[in-house]
Amino acid sequence: MTSNGIAQVPEDWDVVIIGAGPAGMAAALYTGRAKLKTLLLDRAGLGGGQLMNTELIEDYPAIKSITGSAMADDMVEQIREFGVEITYGEVTAFEARGNRRIVKTEDGTEYVTKTVIVTTGGLPRKLDVTGEQEFAGRGVSYCAICDGAFFKNQVLAVIGGGDSAVEEGTFLTRYGEKVYIIHRRDEWRAQKLLQERALNNPKIEPIWNTVVEEIGGDGKVQWLRLRDVTTGEEQRVDVGGVFIYVGFMPNSQIFGHEYPKDAQGFVITDDKMETPVPGIYVAGDVRSQYVRQISNAVGDATTAAVAATRYIEELDATGDTEEAETAEKVPVEY
Ligand code: NAP
Repeated sequence: MTSNGIAQVPEDWDVVIIGAGPAGMAAALYTGRAKLKTLLLDRAGLGGGQLMNTELIEDYPAIKSITGSAMADDMVEQIREFGVEITYGEVTAFEARGNRRIVKTEDGTEYVTKTVIVTTGGLPRKLDVTGEQEFAGRGVSYCAICDGAFFKNQVLAVIGGGDSAVEEGTFLTRYGEKVYIIHRRDEWRAQKLLQERALNNPKIEPIWNTVVEEIGGDGKVQWLRLRDVTTGEEQRVDVGGVFIYVGFMPNSQIFGHEYPKDAQGFVITDDKMETPVPGIYVAGDVRSQYVRQISNAVGDATTAAVAATRYIEELDATGDTEEAETAEKVPVEY
């Protein structure tokens, strides 16, 4: 502890990675293999991220089918073999100080590093209707894998029409007697394979062109008030639980104004995954991009890790000192 109460971790790191989902662990694999001193900070203190909320992964090349938790375990084991350290840390900010980057956590610790790779992912978006907050944990859920088993033989509703809604709706038929998938349009945006699987499942009943106006019940979820957006007609549907999958919000709050973001708050990088601040990279779901799959999160994290490795090589070759001024970066076209 220093006199001002800040716990400064004595050793310097080459790479501090923030967030231990698939992107963070892929970046760590590459920097670990490059023999860079790599620290992986995670607010859960363990590896996995969204993998832990995913039942099965069937769209990762060369792996026909694997559970999310098994993939997470394999990734953790693999990176530990290359000396990567994983530790608990809720990061509140990071900044450039000369040739060093400082990562600050909520307990007052400051990690000193040459590069930072931010792979903080995101969180489910809220539906923002009456009853959602009141019944959170009492019938309103954002994670079928975590909570599905509490709803055996009940009628359930899933809200949304993307991959998550359609995939998790199918998963919930293991427990639910019936699963409504309630979507605001007349077609899902989910992958065709997931759609086929859901539509062929006799327990699934899609409700099209419909939005949820209210979630209600007595102490726990018992019904939904729905509105048909084409006719304006309202109906009440009895359900024991509602699973909300209406998109994804980035965990990008730790980025200051110097980092460009898109309209939804995802962080924009160049094609090396680098931000306007040299030595700070972003990969995975928190980054602004066209698709959000494990495979492209891993690919972008690989790019970030290789770019960070080359940045450190150049820094070391030019006589790196902690105090040296940050090199002026050529403006990036976003
Ligand atoms: P998403 O693809 O953004 O889909 C969100 C869905 O919610 C859309 O159907 C959207 O309707 C609907 N929606 C949004 N706001 C709404 C509102 N206020 N009221 C009612 N409905 C609303 O989100 P996601 O399904 O969570 O997927 C996130 C990312 O992860 C995607 O890139 C997805 O491909 C990826 N993912 C992949 C897999 C896989 O490969 N197996 C699995 C899960 C997720 P509209 O369609 O009308 O816009």
